[in-house]
Amino acid sequence: MLGRFAPSTTGEAHPGTLLAALLVWLDARARGGRVMMRLEDLDVTRTKAAWAAQMIEACAWLGLAWDEVVVQSDRRAAHEGALDALAAAGRLYPCSCSRAARSGGRRAPDGGWAYDNTCRGRALPAGGWRAASEAIRARLDDDRIELVDDGGLDLSQTPARDMGDPIVRRRDDVIAYQLAVVVDDRDAAITDVIRGRDIAPSTATQVMLQRLLGIATPRYRHHFLLLEPGAGKLAKLHGSIPYSQLRAHHDGPALCGILAHAAGLTATPAPCRPDELVAGFDWRRVPATDRVARMEAHGLVIV
Ligand SMILES: [Zn+2]
Repeated sequence: MLGRFAPSTTGEAHPGTLLAALLVWLDARARGGRVMMRLEDLDVTRTKAAWAAQMIEACAWLGLAWDEVVVQSDRRAAHEGALDALAAAGRLYPCSCSRAARSGGRRAPDGGWAYDNTCRGRALPAGGWRAASEAIRARLDDDRIELVDDGGLDLSQTPARDMGDPIVRRRDDVIAYQLAVVVDDRDAAITDVIRGRDIAPSTATQVMLQRLLGIATPRYRHHFLLLEPGAGKLAKLHGSIPYSQLRAHHDGPALCGILAHAAGLTATPAPCRPDELVAGFDWRRVPATDRVARMEAHGLVIV
């Protein structure tokens, strides 16, 4: 059994990323498995090396040790190989449809607008996908994916219709998340994917890409999120409680205690180490509903 924690390094570590790290790590260790960290840094317009370094430091501070750390930007050749395979199978096409052109159309399961596969009939330029100055999409099969994750969350979709064919290489030549994640999980031989519920709507698309590339589908589980007050409603926690602020209030065991308590693993938020949580770890204790995190004068509070 091999799990992975795969944060994107597009900002400081925060309580939500550290909660995800803790749950991934505990799931693996409680089953005697191995667990790695993959730093997802492909989006050159949004990532910083300093944030990747900080993610490594923050996990160590919390008490999490990884069997391996992989940097996604080192894996370009594997991503290109997958694009070549999809191109050879006639699956790739260029698309310059704008997001604005889709707005007002059909809602996708992730809350965005579905892509109507408008450009499916278009061919790649003579030089192949590398020569295309537009975004590249992968033509999925129109089949329905029936999938319920280990937590009982129904992920069934017809991704080609519900979401639309995914972009696999962006116009700016960045390899898209949906492709990179399935290729990297394959090459690492990941057996179990534990991640936040915000990514759940992408799972069926990833399963369809796995099928196109002949990749076995891992086990999935999607856990609750930490939220923060956003524009009139609660939104997934992002930058409002950065790691630098957490460290000013807490040490690693104190934060571990707060996160473990929020995850239903301890009776009180008293300080603890991840090692001490392994024996009692059980997903049945972890709540299904999202929680709200906020910073108060004495430190982090999760309700
Ligand atoms: Zn298009």
